[in-house]
Amino acid sequence: MDRVEQPLKLHVIPYLSDGHMIPLCDIAILFASRGHQVTIITTPSNVKTFQKSLPSHLHQYLHIHTIPFPSQEVGLPEGVENLSGIPDMDKLSRYTQAMTLLQPLIEEVVEHDPPDCIVADFMYPWVEELANKLRIPRLAFTCFSLFAICAMKSVMASSIHGGSGSFLIQGLPHPIRLNATPPMTLREGNMKEILDIQLKSHGLIVNNFSELDGEEYTEYYEKTINHKAWHIGPAYLIRKTAQEKAERGQGSTVSVHECMSWLNSKRDNSVLYISFGTISYLPNKQLYEIASALEACGHEFIWVVPEKKGKEDESEEEKENWLPKGFEERCIGKNKKGLLVKGWAPQLLILEHSAICAFLTHCGWNSIVEAAAAGVPMITWPVHGEQFYNEKLVTQVRGIGVEVGATEWSILGIFDRESVVRRESIEKAVRRLLDGGDEAKKIKQRAREFGDKAKRAAQEGGSSHRNLTALIEDLKRLRDNKF
Ligand code: UDP
Repeated sequence: MDRVEQPLKLHVIPYLSDGHMIPLCDIAILFASRGHQVTIITTPSNVKTFQKSLPSHLHQYLHIHTIPFPSQEVGLPEGVENLSGIPDMDKLSRYTQAMTLLQPLIEEVVEHDPPDCIVADFMYPWVEELANKLRIPRLAFTCFSLFAICAMKSVMASSIHGGSGSFLIQGLPHPIRLNATPPMTLREGNMKEILDIQLKSHGLIVNNFSELDGEEYTEYYEKTINHKAWHIGPAYLIRKTAQEKAERGQGSTVSVHECMSWLNSKRDNSVLYISFGTISYLPNKQLYEIASALEACGHEFIWVVPEKKGKEDESEEEKENWLPKGFEERCIGKNKKGLLVKGWAPQLLILEHSAICAFLTHCGWNSIVEAAAAGVPMITWPVHGEQFYNEKLVTQVRGIGVEVGATEWSILGIFDRESVVRRESIEKAVRRLLDGGDEAKKIKQRAREFGDKAKRAAQEGGSSHRNLTALIEDLKRLRDNKF
């Protein structure tokens, strides 16, 4: 640990969704590992999710301030305090209402005991005003790649009219062509306002290593968009032991031991890992297509299917009606081709296992940076949000993945989708990467190189390590010059 004479005092405010909270807690650990005092402000059931995963040797630096979640006020069931537990539109609007009610509670905590700096998720734009009032810097944490933000800003500045079809994003360092038109919500309205207010913050913290976004996009963000960005990831690499990695997030529904011994029984570079993250629930007909493609390819796989908690109108029969007849008997089990995880999987450990050869991913940013850091090439299948931009970074810009050909851009992953990606397209993409050949070899080689770069970035002297040091120095200067 670095010597620090006067540690910084930081308040960290994660957005209540696993994909935002998990990396921001890792970032809290990063600051604590440098000897700074960090307080994470969150609600009771979210504390339960991450508390056990905070390294015990850092307990003197990591604190938690719990505020009540307004479950009764908005009519959400007790304990549903995270977007990842929200199954439908009705509960989504209640959750959004709850998030608004949390604002004064968080403000009160921060105002009562002001820190030297607030590190808040960019989805809380109101923190800007709070930080100004207290005359302290606010760092905006984004759970997107910087590449995606640059692309979004460019799309927001140009006039795209609805409809489908492909189009070219103007003005980026690479000619990026999207095969799906971003929905209005990602071009105007709330997201535009959030990104505009993000630009007023002291700077942006990115859970990526600068080599993956690339110098050209850091420069584009800093010079063209005119805002400072610090790449300090992949933040999860602060977790060194298998236990620290396994304990991150909701907690595995499959026994970690069972999962690892299944993988240990497989050849190196032979297993496809499939996961759509924490809020993308595919309809049964889509799951059926995936299962059919997997069976047709004949490759080994670990497939994670998240549980849709709290969805009352789905019968038991419906819940199980998404696999071809006899699929589990034929494919799933100890000496068979597949492992099916219904719920939460130890993703970091899976990705780092030598048996894994590729990751079929929904392109959530955390999943991409975790795969890149593990040196695992990707089959990209974006679903919603900024994931269609992330896909292009992986496939068109860095060449570490192939596309499945998804073109339907949902507003959020929890909504049922109109069309499906057909089994033939899935099979084709899987074969392209797993059946071998020159193209696959090159993609795998590049992915391995990014894995090495990620690990070097996080080590002492590496780019992310240096960026964190520079950021800390900057914050100390601001604190010490305050009068
Ligand atoms: N994750 C996990 N096990 C699971 C599902 C997700 O560990 O079964 C973790 C994953 O490693 C990542 C995060 O949850 O850190 C999901 O974030 P991402 O940005 O990939 O997707 P989102 O869920 O936000 O769409």
